[in-house]
Amino acid sequence: MPSFNTALTRALGIKVPVVQGGMQWVGYAEMASAVSNAGGLGILTGLTQPTPDDLRKEIRRCKSMTSKPFGVNLTLLPSINPPDYGAYAQAIIDEGIRIVETAGYSPGEVIKKFKSVGCIVLHKCTTIKHAKSAVKLGVDFLSIDGFECAGHVGETDITNFILLSRARQDLKVPFIASGGFADGQGLAAALALGAEGINMGTRFMCTVEAPIHNNIKQAIVDAQETDTALVLRRWQNTSRLFKNKVTNDALKIERESTTGKFEEVQPFVSGQRGRQVFLNGDKDHGVSSACVHMVQKRN
Ligand code: NAD
Repeated sequence: MPSFNTALTRALGIKVPVVQGGMQWVGYAEMASAVSNAGGLGILTGLTQPTPDDLRKEIRRCKSMTSKPFGVNLTLLPSINPPDYGAYAQAIIDEGIRIVETAGYSPGEVIKKFKSVGCIVLHKCTTIKHAKSAVKLGVDFLSIDGFECAGHVGETDITNFILLSRARQDLKVPFIASGGFADGQGLAAALALGAEGINMGTRFMCTVEAPIHNNIKQAIVDAQETDTALVLRRWQNTSRLFKNKVTNDALKIERESTTGKFEEVQPFVSGQRGRQVFLNGDKDHGVSSACVHMVQKRN
């Protein structure tokens, strides 16, 4: 394996500049510890745990599975049952985690809390404007999330070729590249564009350690780059999801609803329902995030 020496590997004490980004229902201890043991940065997904106490237990479980650095993701986005972000942040801090990935809206309070105890904060942004606001909040790294990414893509639809170049020209703190990365070629390209590493998500969903039914891993491997759908744009919360019967139904409501109420589409996009997809292997049971490249095919 080549040896890497970037601002990311130096700051985090890792060997490979690859961050396994926070993924809802995927970022358990098995996943995060495997990535950290392999030299990257594994990340537990905070909100995958039902309560802050469960997150404490998961952090302890992860510590028992790796002696390498790992982080925790805390994402602040519209939620059907809004979580107590402050309590999750406190659990992260109390358990001694010092690398945190934040994402979403109005992260100021939690970033302040993490910085007050010396955490290294990687903040995910889909625009340069938001990246600059995050710099003012004192984040250590930006995770620049292009339109190719899985999950919440933002509302500006700027792809990584443009976004990363703008980041290199305009940002005063180091950044990693996120969205559409799935292999070494992608990492090399990101480094060439000025990033200090990459964030990878969907690719990790197809590993042995991902807690996902094999049918879904196979469906991702078999998928084409055209197999994602953008849902929830009408509610300014656009999500890139694996295209299936449920995304088609959700998009029909999105187009045809006369009330424009989120409640109409809620049963289709529910995270709890999407979680069942990973557990029972029926890809049409609910929605799940997937990036546009899926798993890049071998030549
Ligand atoms: P959920 O079941 O609460 O909501 C399902 C989807 O609907 C999510 O995309 C959510 O953002 C969106 N949503 C909820 N209320 C909304 C509203 N009033 N208007 C517009 N959109 C709305 O979500 P979940 O899958 O259980 O996830 C719980 C939390 O974790 C959410 O905040 C979600 O965005 C976030 N999340 C985190 C990650 C991660 O990797 N860290 C990935 C996906 C989602």
